[in-house]
Amino acid sequence: MKILVAVKRAIDYNVKARPKSDGSGVELANVKMSMNPFDEIAVEEAIRLQEAGKGQEIVVVSIGPSACQETLRTAMAMGADRGILVETGEEVQPLAVAKLLKAVVDREQPGLVILGKQAIDDDSNQTGQMLAGLLGWAQGTFAAKVEVSADSIEVKREIDGGLQTLALKLPAVVTADLRLNEPRYVKLPNIMKAKKKPLDTLTPAELGVDIAPRLKLIKASEPAGRAGGVKVADVQELVAKLRNEAKVI
Ligand code: AMP
Repeated sequence: MKILVAVKRAIDYNVKARPKSDGSGVELANVKMSMNPFDEIAVEEAIRLQEAGKGQEIVVVSIGPSACQETLRTAMAMGADRGILVETGEEVQPLAVAKLLKAVVDREQPGLVILGKQAIDDDSNQTGQMLAGLLGWAQGTFAAKVEVSADSIEVKREIDGGLQTLALKLPAVVTADLRLNEPRYVKLPNIMKAKKKPLDTLTPAELGVDIAPRLKLIKASEPAGRAGGVKVADVQELVAKLRNEAKVI
C-alpha cells in the first residue's frame, strides 16, 4: 500500500506568533519555520506502518513556496521515500489545499492518506475532513492509535470522556493527533541521504485546480492582555468579589 502524507511548512512551534502591525495577518518575515508538529506525527506513523510491513512507499506532499522543499527533505530524512512540491507563492486556504491534495491522490492512487489534525498557524482543522469529502473516502480524524489490516484500518480517537474506535474501509483519510506517536529525531547521515531522494515539483495549474481564496481575513490581533490580580484581606472579601464582581457564585 502506498501512503501519502501531507506536510505543511508552518511557523515553528517555539515562536510566539505576532500579528503584522497593520493587522493584515501573522508576521512571517524573519520568523523560524518548521514542519507543522502534527505532520511530523503523521510522517512518523507512515514510517512505522512501513516498518511493520503495512506500507510499500511513503510519498510526502507540501503545498506552498519553494522553501517547502526543506520541509519535504526533513520528512524524507525521517524516512519518507519521495516528495512532491505543489509550488505556489499565493495564499492557499484549506479548501484549495484539499483540492490540490485530491488531484495528487488521483495521480498517485495511495491506499491511505495521513494529515496532521491541524496546522498550528491557521488552526483551521479542515483540510483532512474536506479531502475525505472530496474523495468520497472514509475519514478517521484525531487518531490516537491506528491498526491496518488487509482492506481496512482501525482508528482509535480520543473523545470527551473516553476512546472511540472506528473501522474504516481502505482507501481512507486519517488525521494525526498528539498522542499517536513520538516522532523520531533525524540523524545526520539520513539528512545526507534525503538529499538524493526524488522530489518532483508541480503547479496548481498543472493539477487543474483553482486556488483563489474563498475566505477573507478581516483582522489579526493580539489577544487582550490579562488584567492584574488583587490581594484580598479575608475569605469574606473573596466570596463577595466572586459573587458581586466575577459573578461566578
Ligand atoms: P488545517 O486544516 O489548515 O488545520 O491543516 C490540517 C492538515 O492539512 C495539516 O496538518 C497538514 O497535514 C495538511 N495541510 C494543510 N495545509 C497544507 C499545505 N500547505 N501543504 C501540505 N499540507 C497541508
